Amino acid sequence: MSIAENVQNVKEKIRSACAACGRDPESVQLVAASKMNDAERVREAIAAGITICGENRVQEMREKQEQGAYEGAQLHFIGTLQKNKVKYLVGTVQLIQSVENRALLEAIDKKAAALHLQQKVLLEVNIGGEASKSGFRPEEIRQVIRGAEQFRNVQICGLMAIPPAVPDPEQSRPFFRQMHQLFIDMDSEKLFNVSMQTLSMGMTNDYEIAIAEGATMVRVGTGIFGARNYNN
Ligand SMILES: *Cc1c(COP(=O)(O)O)cnc(C)c1O
Repeated sequence: MSIAENVQNVKEKIRSACAACGRDPESVQLVAASKMNDAERVREAIAAGITICGENRVQEMREKQEQGAYEGAQLHFIGTLQKNKVKYLVGTVQLIQSVENRALLEAIDKKAAALHLQQKVLLEVNIGGEASKSGFRPEEIRQVIRGAEQFRNVQICGLMAIPPAVPDPEQSRPFFRQMHQLFIDMDSEKLFNVSMQTLSMGMTNDYEIAIAEGATMVRVGTGIFGARNYNN
């Protein structure tokens, strides 16, 4: 299957998943998780109708940016982020989805203030409480959001999660459900720089379940680009 066929296939599955639970297909955005795929393949995906690319590694993203890989699409950062790399993202990517601690929020705010702009971010939630994973604990999100009012150059637009890896995607459902509840609960916090618009969850194996449970954004890599080759 070509990238173009895969993109059509994923979009069709998103439409069906929305139809099955009575949701407007326009309420779910598709992010192509393009890690380990070169600029040419990324451009192919955009030509096939991808409007948002998500990258995991700052260095790889910058290389592909220089090659004009993302022209015609938005760029989001979805990977583990170090504070010293924040400067490469603020004002460059439309959305930083993987803000996993307060120090990052502070660093993003500082850089955004220096550039006189507002940086949109999502807060990453460690919904499975896994020691191996980064992200805020669900119980701490409300406090983080309230404290974020001091970060006037950061706009918190929602939440992102990667639930634990499981053999059967159905096992992800309770985690997606918890994330949706948290998303709804946080929406009641009316703060000037917080608006719960985006709930980013669901990948190739489980995005249809994530949609049924309320995802407004899914991040699909393998389903669009095929299996990644880790030997290169
Ligand atoms: C790689 C990646 C994805 C996509 O994973 P697939 O299983 O290939 O669809 C989604 N989100 C993040 C954060 C990723 O790193």
